[in-house]
Amino acid sequence: MTDIKPILERALANVRLTGEECTALLESHDIAAIGSAADEIRQRRHPDNVVTYIIDRNINYTNVCNVVCTFCAFYRRPGTPDTYVRTIEQICEKIDETIELGGTGVLMQGGLHPDFGIEWYEDLLRTLHAKYPAFQLHCFSPPEIHNIHLISGLDYEKIMQRLKDAGLYSLPGGGGEILDDEVRKRVSTKCTTDEWLDVMKAVHRVGLRSTATMMFGIGDDVSHRVKHLQRVRDLQDETGGFTAFIPWTFQRENTALGRRIKDEPTGVDYLKMLAVSRLFLDNIENFQSSWLTQGLKLGQVALRFGANDMGSIMIEENVVSAAGAHNRADEKMLRYLIREAGFTPRQRDILYVPVNRQSSSRDDFSQSQPLDELTVAIAD
Ligand code: SF4
Repeated sequence: MTDIKPILERALANVRLTGEECTALLESHDIAAIGSAADEIRQRRHPDNVVTYIIDRNINYTNVCNVVCTFCAFYRRPGTPDTYVRTIEQICEKIDETIELGGTGVLMQGGLHPDFGIEWYEDLLRTLHAKYPAFQLHCFSPPEIHNIHLISGLDYEKIMQRLKDAGLYSLPGGGGEILDDEVRKRVSTKCTTDEWLDVMKAVHRVGLRSTATMMFGIGDDVSHRVKHLQRVRDLQDETGGFTAFIPWTFQRENTALGRRIKDEPTGVDYLKMLAVSRLFLDNIENFQSSWLTQGLKLGQVALRFGANDMGSIMIEENVVSAAGAHNRADEKMLRYLIREAGFTPRQRDILYVPVNRQSSSRDDFSQSQPLDELTVAIAD
């Protein structure tokens, strides 16, 4: 096993890590040393000791999907009985509830609907932007943009410009999974690695920002994870458009892949992946803890493994919860966990700008449910 001490020293001396060094860190079992180095880098990047979170909501406008991903428990094939497409009225109702709770935006994604050309998305955005001009519409991951490209025959940049003009605020980095076709092609028929990266390039070129994600444990090994990180870092060098990196582990319940895969990533694998990402992706500012998939307690520990953001209070989530991620939190709970980890909690918006909202009760933890009850609440 490679001695990782000199690698961590180089990272702490602000020397960019190589792919080989990244591999050595991911193969090491010394997560305490790796986590400590990631925590140190996190402190340097965020010296104010603040950990942020966002109040928003995931809205899935449709579960109809034209492709097959064996890791997905959310999609329904076109024409099957339990498909849905949300109406504008239903979406507005959900946005109104989000605003009531102090929310600043919405993360809206859906399956790859075979009949929706660009006009459908433009109409949706225009209607919502006209009704809620200050509300941030963080919508449509690269596979959805690629699907619009297939249906409407427009190039990515043209699509992004039109969606931006219609009111799109930023793009979620979903559908990244593992950015290596050797793995992607085994588990999905959605867009390729290059297509995902090219969509992101177009997003950044028209002046929008996006996040980057990684879902590991879908048959990938360390070499695929390193390639994923390398591709994200290279694109960030080129465009600077990623606001944050969000890794999480495959959620297996109710999925075809989950029935086949024997080994799944553990808590240690998650913390190591997060910490190594913080060390390797030296050009990305923010790293999210994925408490939704890892549970609130491990999500809190992640704040000492390189994460500076607790993600969303997640008023609604349908995709990973369909695959077994049954965790739930309210704002008071997230603030409590952040404080107990030694940080100052601060609400932010989708671009990580602080939100100054007056609320007298959000730190009154006595009004929140106990941690264990909240952790299982969504399963009921
Ligand atoms: S992950 Fe997305 S693209 Fe893949 S099947 Fe599910 S909804 Fe469709």
